[in-house]
Amino acid sequence: MMNVTRRQFIKISAGAIGAVVATETAALGVDTAAVQGRALSVPIKTGKQVPSICPFCSVGCGQIVMVNDAGKIIGIEGNPDSPISEGTLCPKGAATYQLVMNEHRWTKVKYRAPGSDHWEEKPLDWAMDRIAKLVKETRDANFNEFEELPDGKGGKAKKRVMNTYALASLGGATIDNEWNYAQQKLMHGLGVVYVENQARI
Ligand code: SF4
Repeated sequence: MMNVTRRQFIKISAGAIGAVVATETAALGVDTAAVQGRALSVPIKTGKQVPSICPFCSVGCGQIVMVNDAGKIIGIEGNPDSPISEGTLCPKGAATYQLVMNEHRWTKVKYRAPGSDHWEEKPLDWAMDRIAKLVKETRDANFNEFEELPDGKGGKAKKRVMNTYALASLGGATIDNEWNYAQQKLMHGLGVVYVENQARI
């Protein structure tokens, strides 16, 4: 009888439930064909299954988005036909459905004015204008055209840097590839040095 460690058992169980296991079970000599087949047969009696790509990192795992006849997303699974991910999704990719369909997701802008003790709802355009105005003012008031930097000979020299240390950008796990690309371009265009993102596997 094959010996399976506790860790391997947990991995196999989790994969079977999510219909996403490929490599781990293959390494244990388990046939994953049935599990992989299930991902494509996840039951929709009407509607359609649309192949897609997870938007959260550059791995580009394949997904199947299940859409009902009303055009509403009813499920998102790993795509076993993807040569990249073979039906698997990491926890972020596996939770994509909750981004789309989540009653707890805030859909309105909340604003707390300086010194205030409560939140107000504001229109999105108002928030965008305010953020743009504050970013522009902060950048203009703290922009460095030149900086004294090491000259490579033990001294310092004035060099053109065109940057600001007064702004920072911190991205979150649910920002997708395209947004990250645009954010990076915008921040570097403004001269922002501190640009960081959580988007890692
Ligand atoms: S976030 Fe996870 S599921 Fe999505 S592409 Fe990256 S590794 Fe794949």
